[in-house]
Amino acid sequence: MILDGKKLKEKKLNILKEETSKLDKKLTLCVIQVGEDTASEIYVNQKKKMADFVGFAFKHIKLKNDVSEDYLLSIIDKENKDDKTTGIIVQMPLPSHINETKIQNAIDYHKDIDGLSDINTGRLVHNRKTLISCTPKGILELLKEYNIKIESKHVVIVGRSNLVGKPLVNLFLNENATVTICHSKTKNLKDYTITADILISAVGKKNLITKDMVKQNAVVIDVGITRENNKLYGDVDFDNVFNKASYITPVPGGVGPMTVTELGYNVLEAYQLRSDANE
Ligand code: NAP
Repeated sequence: MILDGKKLKEKKLNILKEETSKLDKKLTLCVIQVGEDTASEIYVNQKKKMADFVGFAFKHIKLKNDVSEDYLLSIIDKENKDDKTTGIIVQMPLPSHINETKIQNAIDYHKDIDGLSDINTGRLVHNRKTLISCTPKGILELLKEYNIKIESKHVVIVGRSNLVGKPLVNLFLNENATVTICHSKTKNLKDYTITADILISAVGKKNLITKDMVKQNAVVIDVGITRENNKLYGDVDFDNVFNKASYITPVPGGVGPMTVTELGYNVLEAYQLRSDANE
């Protein structure tokens, strides 16, 4: 069965729109973009479309590719202090002369809607209320929508990035799953993937996960994106794995739509976290 991220996106964004319309304040999503990367343009447009639909104000700050790190930091500082700005995202990747970790940590953690700052990452590890990275959060939402049991299941994650793999480990641990994480130095990847009740691949290599690597009736979540001749491919050999998996996400239309949806929810949560005196 297909895990339909596109359908869930539509449902969840309508709910978010409704919730947002009840607030006294108009929330503002601020996107800071450096340079003219084509993929970044696409992602920023997706965020704007979501913001327009939900009813957020969209503040797009576009900076030149050769902007200094200090100038970028000063812009972030200004947005941190601006009461009208609810959530801030700096579009990655940044040019090589800018330290991405420094930039992520410069964002006030209450406004860090990407959930990538050290503070928000630490809060996730400690299972405290926090802003969580959107793709991992979207995956969990998708599983919950289809009533897929997570507790006591063996979740195998392929890929250990700060953006996807590592937050996933903690999210699933917090849901009482048993978690294994694999990466490029893992030997005999199949020995691990074949034992997964829930298998998540976040690598970016077409056909990395083949039918023989998947347990019968496993839930298969494909995060990977490879662009070839204007077509998108995931990490999973979808056509052959489809009949073996109990549930599977397509690419496109699976995890991708959930990422921008959860960004919208993080804007609302950023507002609520700031308003919550006991947080
Ligand atoms: P990343 O930072 O490049 O991380 C890739 C991970 O894959 C690394 O941990 C790497 O291991 C591991 N890896 C590489 N080759 C491997 C192999 N042969 N076997 C096992 N592991 C291997 O990428 P990312 O930011 O996490 O993104 C991963 C993929 O998901 C990309 O295709 C990206 O475009 C996609 N993505 C999609 C969404 C969405 O919304 N759909 C969101 C985010 C990312 P090492 O750590 O050892 O190098």
